[in-house]
Amino acid sequence: MSSTASVPLFQKFKLPNGVEYEQPLGLFINGEFVTGKEGKAFEVINPSTGNVVGKVHEATAADVDIAVDAAETAFYDGPWSKMSSADRGHLLLKLADLFEENLTILASIEAFDNGKAIQLAKGDIGACIGCLRYYGGWADKIHGKVIETNSESFNFTKQEPIGVCGQIIPWNFPLLMWAWKIGPAIACGNTVVLKTAEQTPLGGLFAAKLCKEAGFPPGVINILSGFGRTAGAAIASHMKIHKVAFTGSTLVGRQIMKAAAESNLKKVTLELGGKSPNIVFEDADIDRAVEWINFGIYYNAGQCCCAGSRVYVQESIYDKVIEAFKKRAQTNVVGNPFDEATFQGAQVSEAQYNRIMSYVELGKKEGATVEVGGERHGTEGYFIKPTVFSNVTEDMRIMKEEIFGPVCAIAKFKDVEDAIRKGNSTTYGLASAVHTGSLSTAMEVANRLRAGTVWVNSYNTLHWALPFGGYGESGIGRELGKEALRNYTQVKTVSINLS
Ligand code: ADP
Repeated sequence: MSSTASVPLFQKFKLPNGVEYEQPLGLFINGEFVTGKEGKAFEVINPSTGNVVGKVHEATAADVDIAVDAAETAFYDGPWSKMSSADRGHLLLKLADLFEENLTILASIEAFDNGKAIQLAKGDIGACIGCLRYYGGWADKIHGKVIETNSESFNFTKQEPIGVCGQIIPWNFPLLMWAWKIGPAIACGNTVVLKTAEQTPLGGLFAAKLCKEAGFPPGVINILSGFGRTAGAAIASHMKIHKVAFTGSTLVGRQIMKAAAESNLKKVTLELGGKSPNIVFEDADIDRAVEWINFGIYYNAGQCCCAGSRVYVQESIYDKVIEAFKKRAQTNVVGNPFDEATFQGAQVSEAQYNRIMSYVELGKKEGATVEVGGERHGTEGYFIKPTVFSNVTEDMRIMKEEIFGPVCAIAKFKDVEDAIRKGNSTTYGLASAVHTGSLSTAMEVANRLRAGTVWVNSYNTLHWALPFGGYGESGIGRELGKEALRNYTQVKTVSINLS
């Protein structure tokens, strides 16, 4: 951290793939990029090299207050408060168009800031565009009902926006999580104060610039760079924020809920961790199943809350699947995120790298077998080879705890009952998958797994129209789809006496 004296509000960036653009570095409050009240800034690190690439201005509680006041004024008094729902939708569609026009810049920022492979980053931006358009389409289709009770009254409900919404997002999909949060909140007519993760502030700031260009009135969307314990905590406990949406670890999710309870009982949605089972039956197409196991765990370098990190294989095909999966894992191209062939880029930070490697050591100590990987890739940055642990038992910590890296734990199961028992042996419940050629097996397993998503013969195929969220300690509420509109509206009942 340092004084902001040397940190400008904008800076020309040239990324390793030659993309040049102007990066905003200030806090985006009330439609302008500004410096923080306490004059702080923090470093941005390129995880592919470990080098500091610049600094951004840092929000503290004082800046959260200013942003909330701007968002509150915009909600009650500004042009936003009178804007038609169709016009709100148009603004989201315009923002989606601007994401499309700037796709290369946005994807390159993600590869640079997060370390993810550019091919995946482009996919993220495509999904941002889809999500923003989807919610742009919803904006003028959110309405209440007439409810008949008796001839002496006329009753109807309205779906009203909540007001100022606080949104706290993680570093694994910096822009996609930005779009998942902004899309439904704005479609419903709220205003937002969103804090990006301290590891990945760059994309959210560039997207803030696009919000301004799209024509959102000042104060409707405010984007802050800052740390969880200061700016994040100030959002969670703010008395003028009436809804908080959080994506991140289960540990922090608990703190957010507690802060909401102890302040103004703001409404809370949480999308938290997972330890998702990926179950392969002997009647599955093995080659295809192996592809999905690979994609399920190594996509985004394993930094996915829904990663298929527990793989259960029916005992008759266990050895065959291990052999095929070992080969497949070793063909993943790991390395420079800007190489178009790369599938697995860097882990986001040194802290995450160390955390994952400590789980690798733990798995060895617990007696699991390292089939492939288990070590650093290359000599600089935070790259880890795709790692496969076999002979993992239910009591091992690598089978129970979220590792959030390219580390897969594999075990056997006997039959449907055993698969379901093992699949459900977790306090989490975000996602799951079953691979089988039998529709009845697929349906039985899908019905009995306790998880917010069950993929059949696939993995990680999320879509903005499909609700996503967790059972158990994986969270509260659903994002995406029509479901997400519930998070950002409240129902008002109007009852008129006709007698
Ligand atoms: P990770 O451990 O993977 O970094 P976190 O759950 O710590 O994930 O972080 C996710 C988001 O939550 C980030 O934006 C972070 O700044 C924020 N955060 C962390 N701690 C708190 C907190 N105590 N209150 C509010 N937000 C927090």
